[in-house]
Amino acid sequence: MIAITGKTKLVGLLGQPVNHSLSPIMHNAAYEEMGLDWCYMAFPCDKGNIEKVTTALRFVDCKGLNVTIPHKQEVLKACNKLTKVANDIQAVNTLIPEKNNQWIGANTDVEGFLVPLKSHNLIDKSVIVIGNGGSARAVVMGLNSLNIKKITIIGRNKNSLDTFVKNMKNLLSKNQIKIEGINNKEKNLTSYIEEADLIINTTPIGMHKQKTEQQNIPLGNQIWDNLSNKTILYDLIYTPRPTNWLKLGEKKNCFIINGLDMLVEQGALSIRLWSGFNNVPTQIMKSSAEKHLMV
Ligand code: NAP
Repeated sequence: MIAITGKTKLVGLLGQPVNHSLSPIMHNAAYEEMGLDWCYMAFPCDKGNIEKVTTALRFVDCKGLNVTIPHKQEVLKACNKLTKVANDIQAVNTLIPEKNNQWIGANTDVEGFLVPLKSHNLIDKSVIVIGNGGSARAVVMGLNSLNIKKITIIGRNKNSLDTFVKNMKNLLSKNQIKIEGINNKEKNLTSYIEEADLIINTTPIGMHKQKTEQQNIPLGNQIWDNLSNKTILYDLIYTPRPTNWLKLGEKKNCFIINGLDMLVEQGALSIRLWSGFNNVPTQIMKSSAEKHLMV
């Protein structure tokens, strides 16, 4: 790391917990390569302190903030303006400093999610999204730009699933994409799985290493028996890499995508917004994160 001097500027992450975060590793590697005299730190912050902390950091000329679980919605209150995407999905993962000690709320998860899908043609395809939490909003918003035919959201909680689908329907209304929600306790999902072209896991199921590969698989092990090798599996989880679900997909010869590229891309987009530089070294960010994950 470059020596911290009196001129070094602070950039950071707010979340709870943050000690597992790869962002400090990736960001500081990028700043060093870019010659930016910035230092990125991860700050654990409770929900009730978000506004106080973001206000205070703006007063000490903090150059930018990322926001992670569980504060991406709570931090809306601390923003004086929102970008269109952040406003549409009502979630912020990047705060950009604005004049008069204010913050603009942005969301780079949507674009970050799309980058690993760029080489795939998804026009008129059917997509399943497992989970209906914060990252699922960014995922559905991203899918909205891909001219796909249908999105099926699978959720475990009927009430939150219905609300999610209703909100997303309003956002997708200009496009012709069909969106439906299915409660996995109420319906057999086998035919949906067999027909899907792309399946995205947005739940944390699989984040923790289990003793056997059959454990910790979204929707259970059996449902994937007839998975087609034409289906792309995209897991937002980046550790472990691959998850047991992606290993299962690999065995069936599916194309698999893990969450690391999304993580790197959303971080690189934040740096672009804060620095105004387009040339962010994403390869260096990725290799520094990979090196850290191997330790
Ligand atoms: P979240 O807002 O808490 O949403 C999680 C969703 O998964 C909710 O719908 C939740 O259902 C469901 N869920 C949780 N545990 C479940 C279980 N045991 N069985 C069935 N459903 C379950 O979390 P998030 O912010 O969307 O993050 C989800 C995952 O994505 C995390 O692993 C996170 O690390 C990853 N992520 C990765 C990136 C990246 O850059 N690669 C970016 C964002 C997130 P309920 O509402 O019923 O609890």
